[in-house]
Amino acid sequence: MTASVFGAAYTAAFGQHRKNLLLLCLTIVTVLKTHAFLPVRTLGHANRGSLPSTAQVRHLVAPLQAAPAPSEEPPFWSLVFSDLFLLFDRTLDTVEDIGVHLRRATERDMDRRFRRDRLTTKAGTKKRVMILGTGWGGHAVTKVVDTGLYEVVIVSPRNFFLFTPMLAGSSVGTVDYRSIIEPIRAANPLADYYEAQALAIYPNNQTVRIRSEIPNEVGEYEEFLAPYDILVYGCGAQSGTFGTPGVREHAFFLKEISDAVKLRQALVDRFERANMPSVSMEEKKRILSFVVVGGGPTGVEFSGEFSDFLNRDLAKYYPALVDLVSFKIIQAGSRILPVFDAALQEQGLEVLKAQGIEVMLNRKVLKVEEKHIELDGGEILPYGLCVWAAGTAPRDITKSLIAAIPEQSASTAGQRGRLSVDRWLRVQGTNGSILALGDAVEVEGLPLPATGQVAAQHGAFLGRLLNREYDLSTPNPTFDLEKVNAFGKVANVLRLRGRLEAQAFSFLNLGLLAYVGQANALAQVQTGNLKFGEYTARAGNLLWRSVYLVKQVSTRNRVLVLNDWLRTRVFGRDISRF
Ligand SMILES: Cc1cc2nc3c(=O)[nH]c(=O)nc-3n(C[C@H](O)[C@H](O)[C@H](O)COP(=O)(O)OP(=O)(O)OC[C@H]3O[C@@H](n4cnc5c(N)ncnc54)[C@H](O)[C@@H]3O)c2cc1C
Repeated sequence: MTASVFGAAYTAAFGQHRKNLLLLCLTIVTVLKTHAFLPVRTLGHANRGSLPSTAQVRHLVAPLQAAPAPSEEPPFWSLVFSDLFLLFDRTLDTVEDIGVHLRRATERDMDRRFRRDRLTTKAGTKKRVMILGTGWGGHAVTKVVDTGLYEVVIVSPRNFFLFTPMLAGSSVGTVDYRSIIEPIRAANPLADYYEAQALAIYPNNQTVRIRSEIPNEVGEYEEFLAPYDILVYGCGAQSGTFGTPGVREHAFFLKEISDAVKLRQALVDRFERANMPSVSMEEKKRILSFVVVGGGPTGVEFSGEFSDFLNRDLAKYYPALVDLVSFKIIQAGSRILPVFDAALQEQGLEVLKAQGIEVMLNRKVLKVEEKHIELDGGEILPYGLCVWAAGTAPRDITKSLIAAIPEQSASTAGQRGRLSVDRWLRVQGTNGSILALGDAVEVEGLPLPATGQVAAQHGAFLGRLLNREYDLSTPNPTFDLEKVNAFGKVANVLRLRGRLEAQAFSFLNLGLLAYVGQANALAQVQTGNLKFGEYTARAGNLLWRSVYLVKQVSTRNRVLVLNDWLRTRVFGRDISRF
């Protein structure tokens, strides 16, 4: 099929649109990539890259059967070559996105000024895309989706996007809360946003029950039923306690801005309390015992940020207390930062220990009481403040959606509380009407970690899948050329870069970063399989800062974060409490 599409593009471009030579070249490259390199990506490397569509599998089967027994792992250089093509493909996608953004800048949706209720009724002929959630996934779809093609409605209790990698920094005042968030309306001014949360999704009627987050005059939270044509589910996950008693009552989380605000208040609170003359020395030590449960990136980054806060600022303001402070990380596994390479894990551990942080490995928290933690082996650990950073759990809305779709409740992903989606991120059992992404999903045959990097790539993928107008109800999303006239055929073939069948989602691993304190960061830099090295200490820190500055979602945020870093460097962190 791709070959015939290529033929159509070739004839079209040379017969009628010579000026589109560049686009044709792009089409050739893309088609070549699809044919020549996809096999490489699919042999024994399920953990990465795109997987073939059924049609592509048919292409691959014959040569594979005839060929000598394939080796387990494809040659390194062919993987790298394949990654470079993926990178090139993503660059073309970005060019396509720029086109959408330019069109959006000139688009005038006059109707928006006169239609006040855009939630409960649909209007016009455009299909309605409803996006649930404004996290990494929802934000990326919102940015990319073409409002010229769809009526876009966003529903989320949070009216902003949050740059979670800097949440730990904001919880001690290294950066300001407002520097790491972006109003969702700024991400796409032509989409309609409602500050509300989805309570239930009815896949059969294609409606969502929604509850406003803003109370009315009598203090009630109104509920609405809102219809959709395509639902993009990006509600993420919530902090998980694994049923450990006392966690929700006594521990602090680090998942949302509100968590960082509470944590920052509580940190200073502990120092002010310990400073009181009536408090015994033993009690001061307990109050100033800080415990982080979880040795993953969130726990470790918070520990590093806290260590900076303690050594640079709190030590200056509370000189009589600083020697009483103790800080522990409790990790259930045998290593911290399990997603990083072993050498970086070791480095991270060394840096934490050098800052006086005690890392307790292979220890399990059984219960959190108001003033002490019960560990396995019967150990009792008095504490003053406990941060719970030990993983995530499914949201109730995800569980109820799984329960509403028989294919989901029967799937292994569903039993783990995640939506099972196919390679085009379509929720199985919904005939293409619900797409899902990020921390809430498990992609069939493509296990990936629950990270912002994955969620953002999911989101951009879905935005483009929608913009390319593939029929999502067919087994492999396809574009029906028969429905358009001759000019439309050419235009669409070029627009789709020859792919009448949508490419499946591919993940391009761009590496890992974690700040570990005292201007040290761990950086695992790579593009797919092409590794550019591992960096620690100052070099890692420079990379960490540069990448996170560039990765901010707007120029405004970049300027604000840079300003915060300078302010912290010159004046230190603020300890005022109000
Ligand atoms: C402190 C911290 C640091 C992190 N650091 C990194 C990092 O350095 N690199 C990295 O790649 N990843 C990092 N992550 C992980 C990353 O943040 C998540 O993987 C990512 O946020 C998942 O994106 P998502 O869109 O699936 O969900 P989220 O970003 O969690 O967004 C979910 C959205 O859904 C909304 N929502 C919830 N319930 C409803 C409802 N009922 N109706 C409508 N909307 C709803 C929420 O308000 C939110 O807007 C970090 C996470 C944390 C907490």
